[in-house]
Amino acid sequence: MQITEIRVDGYEKVVRCKDQASGLHALIAVHDTTLGPALGGMRMLPYANEEEALFDVLRLSRGMTYKSAVADTGLGGGKSVILGDPKIKSPALFETMGAFVDSLGGKYITAEDMNIGIADLEIVRRKTRWVTGLSLQAGGSGNPSPYTARGAFHGMRAVLEEAFGSPSFKGKRVLIQGVGAVGGRLAELLKEAGAHVIICDINETRVAELCKKHGFESVSDATHLDVPCDVYSPCARGATLNDASIPKLKCKAIAGVANNQLHEPRHGDVLRDKGILYAPDYVINAGGIINVSLEMIAGGYNEAKAVAKIDRIYDNLKQVFAIAREQKISTHVAADRLAEQRIAAGRKSKVAAR
Ligand code: NAD
Repeated sequence: MQITEIRVDGYEKVVRCKDQASGLHALIAVHDTTLGPALGGMRMLPYANEEEALFDVLRLSRGMTYKSAVADTGLGGGKSVILGDPKIKSPALFETMGAFVDSLGGKYITAEDMNIGIADLEIVRRKTRWVTGLSLQAGGSGNPSPYTARGAFHGMRAVLEEAFGSPSFKGKRVLIQGVGAVGGRLAELLKEAGAHVIICDINETRVAELCKKHGFESVSDATHLDVPCDVYSPCARGATLNDASIPKLKCKAIAGVANNQLHEPRHGDVLRDKGILYAPDYVINAGGIINVSLEMIAGGYNEAKAVAKIDRIYDNLKQVFAIAREQKISTHVAADRLAEQRIAAGRKSKVAAR
């Protein structure tokens, strides 16, 4: 196993691992550990080359620093990528990846991400203890999706308060695109709170099942943007807020869990100009990472503590909206400012403690 460092301005540590025996070619980026060890998932993709993989790992690890800072997990941001075809996996590959993660001595903590499952992480775990998100039986915090849904629900209360002057869901029309693990649970929580829930998904069987069970209204995915609603909740995939979709929106606010909803950052400004309140994705979808971060506390994972912290996504969004209002900026920029404030405060208290 050969580990080499790649120097990148603005990043604490970026390392490459190449191992002939297992075929591993991977990168780990530790963006910032001011607030704690760098937590971030591991993904596996058939990148065209190392340059493409490096671009991805740098972008994603920086995003994790911001997400963790606003979520107040007491952790920093990192990420790892394995260059390779996810159809070709072996125990040796993940054992070597475990040793690679371990070589950073806890500065980087890994978790699931694209094309990496719990079974893979269990092999990684043989070589390093710096792994989160394992099953409850293995001492982990289990499936993050219900916690992400819970966090989004509490985040939506702040959205309603900001957009409508009251956090009440009674009679509010919420349109959800994507009713998978998170969107499906979120729909249930909203219905229980009195919202009128409209769902769409490319998986029509899933839509039919949920409508039958919970009495949701449904709309076809192709035409869902024509439906007037109070809150639009993208819970399927990224980049859905773009030049084509934004002019069609008939909502007062957007609050969903999909990652990277804005096709480009400027789309956050376009939404603001249209008078649509946008709950920045990485703030409202942080329930899962908050849950996982509780594995790192003394005494191990504690669901009651996790849930209390997840519910504070409401407060985090209130702060983001207040910054946006006071500084007359878009909410996605305000979220970054809040993260930067928290990191700066962390840096200051570290210096003072020396
Ligand atoms: P999932 O795969 O369980 O559900 C996604 C759903 O979206 C599926 O039902 C799928 O059929 C549907 N879908 C896919 N493409 C679609 C399209 N073009 N139009 C309409 N529906 C479409 O995923 P999930 O775990 O529920 O996550 C949903 C989103 O939230 C993803 O973007 C994910 O990255 C993000 N996210 C998830 C978590 C989590 O804890 N699971 C945490 C943070 C962010």
